[in-house]
Amino acid sequence: MDYKEHIAIVQDWPKEGVQFKDITPLMDNGPAFKSAVDEIVEYAKQLEIDIVVGPEARGFIVGCPVSYALEIGFAPVRKEGKLPRETIKVDYGLEYGKDVLTIHKDAIKPGQRVLIVDDLLATGGTIEATIDLVEQLGGEVAGCAFLIELTYLNGREKLKNNDVLTLMQY
Ligand code: 5GP
Repeated sequence: MDYKEHIAIVQDWPKEGVQFKDITPLMDNGPAFKSAVDEIVEYAKQLEIDIVVGPEARGFIVGCPVSYALEIGFAPVRKEGKLPRETIKVDYGLEYGKDVLTIHKDAIKPGQRVLIVDDLLATGGTIEATIDLVEQLGGEVAGCAFLIELTYLNGREKLKNNDVLTLMQY
């Protein structure tokens, strides 16, 4: 399926010089959204994963239907101060500034095979921070899946040691 026809490119958002890839038209289209999720589900089946992890907020949108289809759990990664129980955290550099990501300390059991899912791979900062959190808890990152990869931002370089699936490249 040609998913790109369901991606809206927004010039100069959230700031000048950025070409934002808006995935909401893809989410709006039932068959296209299902097909994209199904591709990630098939990828995950080969990796024999135990749990899906996704960073807020669009990682939830793509990751939760994957965990539902596989009948396995989903663990959210969130900005600091959003998760109610004991967390671990990591500082990271985002495309548009600096931030902190957290995960519940008991979200992943040591040795669990984890699939990390997000909507888009840009510089790789978010995924690198998420991998760090999973590994701090003793999880094994079996794979990483994204709808979109911005190849010109070289996020793959941070994922040299990881198995990666992306459905669209710009
Ligand atoms: P990175 O950390 O790889 O530089 O940026 C990826 C993160 O920023 C993802 O969580 C993603 O949701 C968000 N992001 C950055 N640029 C875009 C974009 O153009 N479109 C969308 N949908 N998300 C973006």
